Amino acid sequence: MRTPLLLDIAADACPDRPALGGGEEGDDFASYRARASCVAAWLAAQGKANTAFLGMNGTALPVLLFACGMAGTPFIPLNYRLADDDLNKLVARSAPSTLIVDDDMLPRIAPTDGVTLIARSDFEAEFMAGAPPEKIDLPEAGNEIAVLLFTSGTTGDPKAAVLRHANLTSYVMSTVEFLGAGEEEAALISVPSYHIAGISAILTAAYGGRRIVYLPAFTAEDWVATCAAEAITHAMVVPTMLDRILDVMERTGETLPALRALSYGGGKMPEPVIARALAKLPHVAFVNAYGLTETSSTIALLGAEDHRAAFASDDPAVRRRIASVGQPLPSIELEIRREDGSPCAPGEQGEIHVRGEQVSGEYLHKKAIADDGWFATSDAGWLDEGGYLFVEGRLDDVIVRGGENISPGEIEDVLRSFDDIADCAVLGIPCVQWGEKVVAVIVSKSGQPDTVAMAAAIRAKLRSTKTPEQWFVRDALPYNETGKLLRRVLKAELAAEACAG
Ligand code: ATP
Repeated sequence: MRTPLLLDIAADACPDRPALGGGEEGDDFASYRARASCVAAWLAAQGKANTAFLGMNGTALPVLLFACGMAGTPFIPLNYRLADDDLNKLVARSAPSTLIVDDDMLPRIAPTDGVTLIARSDFEAEFMAGAPPEKIDLPEAGNEIAVLLFTSGTTGDPKAAVLRHANLTSYVMSTVEFLGAGEEEAALISVPSYHIAGISAILTAAYGGRRIVYLPAFTAEDWVATCAAEAITHAMVVPTMLDRILDVMERTGETLPALRALSYGGGKMPEPVIARALAKLPHVAFVNAYGLTETSSTIALLGAEDHRAAFASDDPAVRRRIASVGQPLPSIELEIRREDGSPCAPGEQGEIHVRGEQVSGEYLHKKAIADDGWFATSDAGWLDEGGYLFVEGRLDDVIVRGGENISPGEIEDVLRSFDDIADCAVLGIPCVQWGEKVVAVIVSKSGQPDTVAMAAAIRAKLRSTKTPEQWFVRDALPYNETGKLLRRVLKAELAAEACAG
């Protein structure tokens, strides 16, 4: 199945339903499809070639995504937050023949042979303004590359993940079927569309017949105001956004009565933040979604019922599931494996492996999957007796202290149970005695953190080897725009300081 079929289904079933943009002004589903068809006809006339986009969130994006799908040309959304050199490297790697660029970003692109630059204002004047044409018939296409997506580059250079039509549609079918799409819904997209979360939001909204409203860039104030003004029913946030959103709600007294579902993911959500969110938004179904770019987004979910059950339960095994990412989607096979490839027992930590149609088998010019279809995620995790998955972070982030593997996540959880902790990170820093030693970086609300009490709590709840040997206090920790803690940046910053100490 191909991605444009998702839009076809909605445009056939509910052509007059609002599809794109805020208020009364946007396109309905019939116009959405017609605009995409028109762009597709233009792309097809140029011959099949990669089409890239560099710019802020907006309705040009979903139109381009589906147009590329219809024309059978890969869509490549680029990260405008990269430094110019890095950005131009990605342009060279992905070799687009057409690159549509926000007008003010045009000077950032170095002239490259074979790449035609088009200003976004010209593209929008041609295809997004005025009445769209009737549906255009396009040539049949197969399971080509739908999207070429560069990963965040949190753990190294960005990888060019190849997502084919079958990968993406399989993901949409399993999640929309699983969560259920409803009538008259509106989704707020505030995550960047050069990230898999932004792409999957476009696809699920189309298939669900759900209107898309964009925030060009995230601020908590705009997010809350737009949710309220547009009666948003569905939204997706990364952990760093949620706390700020709750602060704004508290300040303004906004309760967001129309909001029905809020999914979050991309990194570990601190328990105090999700507890606060549940208390503030009791009418909202919260979903913790775990996935990677290479898996076309979500592969495991902690659903609304599980959230409620975890907070309501006295059973510690159920209670701790609030820190899990729930269970794999029905269409996903998931195993935890030891380094030698053998399966881990429940409770035993290993590498998360997945298999399923939505899992991509390739990076650009490189295979990414075993012959039997299993993909190694590079994430450390474990399953409890009930099959709930706990993600402990990247394998690279596991601290190896004197031969003992230590997950930063469980130590960070203990630290976050202190009211004074606004944010924290636990890292392994090279040291002569142990190879790596455990250090903690904390952001304290009071400015006078009680690290003795924190160390005692970690010793009591975990083990003395997991107690940080050095503490650093910072005003803030470094995150990228998709909410990932930049551990590499922190580590590099601290290594010299820590080893000297
Ligand atoms: P790179 O692969 O280039 O290092 P990245 O890790 O940021 O970049 P993404 O595909 O953007 O690549 O992020 C996927 C990772 O995000 C997962 O492997 C996992 O570590 C983390 N993650 C995603 N969702 C969740 C979640 N719900 N809970 C905890 N961690 C999550």
